[in-house]
Amino acid sequence: MDNTNIPLQSLDRGWFHNRQGISVSMLRLDLTDAVISGNKPFKLKYSLQEAQRLGCKQVLTFGGAYSNHLVATAAMAQRQGLQSIGLIRGLQSAAQETHTLQQCRAFGMQLQPVDREAYSHKTDPAFLAQLQQQYPDAFIIPEGGASALGRQGAAEIAQLIPDSTTTVCLSVGTGTTLAGLREALLANVSIIGFAPIKGGAYLINEVAAFLSPNANANWTITDAYHFGGFGKMTEELTYFMQEFEQNCGFALDRVYTAKMMYGVRQMLQLGRFAQGENIVCIHTGGLQGNG
Ligand SMILES: *Cc1c(COP(=O)(O)O)cnc(C)c1O
Repeated sequence: MDNTNIPLQSLDRGWFHNRQGISVSMLRLDLTDAVISGNKPFKLKYSLQEAQRLGCKQVLTFGGAYSNHLVATAAMAQRQGLQSIGLIRGLQSAAQETHTLQQCRAFGMQLQPVDREAYSHKTDPAFLAQLQQQYPDAFIIPEGGASALGRQGAAEIAQLIPDSTTTVCLSVGTGTTLAGLREALLANVSIIGFAPIKGGAYLINEVAAFLSPNANANWTITDAYHFGGFGKMTEELTYFMQEFEQNCGFALDRVYTAKMMYGVRQMLQLGRFAQGENIVCIHTGGLQGNG
């Protein structure tokens, strides 16, 4: 992956324009690749390196039927000559297989449906030990790439954020990207995470647990913009996505970044940012999920 060409695109003209001298731009991580896009290649980079270093032939990871993480893992593993196995939450018939899961298969991922009860043990040490016995050649990557290696890779996104930035806005799933960035960005840069799930404020505790004590400030997560819950859409959000694409010239994904940008726009309108701020929003990809 070549990180030097990732543009920071200004949204200061037209629709996002505001009179408070606040500048808003988007870090276009969605442009890196069609599927290996957004924050995923950053989060997976060191896990795949570690798999290779340990001589593992396979990587095994977890996800739901709409998981961008699964597709990115399948594609990156294939590119690096590793096999991939995906443990899929919930049993579904091949007839109802989502576009996401079809893509995973196309990248050679072996899909293994797991019922919801068993899946809920995905982070239990005993369950993981048993899984490792079952797949002795596999390097196991947690759901969403949520590990220290994931955070280490995500921290490298900070290199693409200019020093003049006052606030970084990003969407939050596991919080791995937010935690990695919080460790790497200067302490005076605020971070606002937008959780696309109902009750997503619980993520504040999860993320806090990963941060060193001196990095444990100047960030927050809001769950005010979930639009009914994970993967849920409303007419208002659909309309917003269309308006955004028309005005800014590129698309947002429906699960994560659309909800974040709706929130950013509303917070601007409500005067929640200080005059003269330089806000950098991160386009964390996910566009394959729109298909
Ligand atoms: C995976 C994903 C996220 C969530 O990233 P975390 O590091 O798990 O918080 C955000 N946005 C998009 C588009 C994603 O695909």
